[in-house]
Amino acid sequence: MNHCCLSCQEVLDSGKPHQELLLLSEVSESKIYKCERCKTYMHFVLGVWELFMASSPPQTQKTTKNSALDTPNYRSA
Ligand SMILES: [Zn+2]
Repeated sequence: MNHCCLSCQEVLDSGKPHQELLLLSEVSESKIYKCERCKTYMHFVLGVWELFMASSPPQTQKTTKNSALDTPNYRSA
């Protein structure tokens, strides 16, 4: 499973963004950050930090097994 880095965990505790958080978007009370270290997205809204876990990294190929079942084998017909 994906885990955020220690710095990101400290953000949740301290409430302050760390050095490697990149501000992606800022709309009034809502800010979206991305951690350069662990690639976790963080959402800061109304004084509360929320973690967006990195969505399925491309190098994970376990889930492609299912799609193999869907691959049609009868194209030659
Ligand atoms: Zn991080």
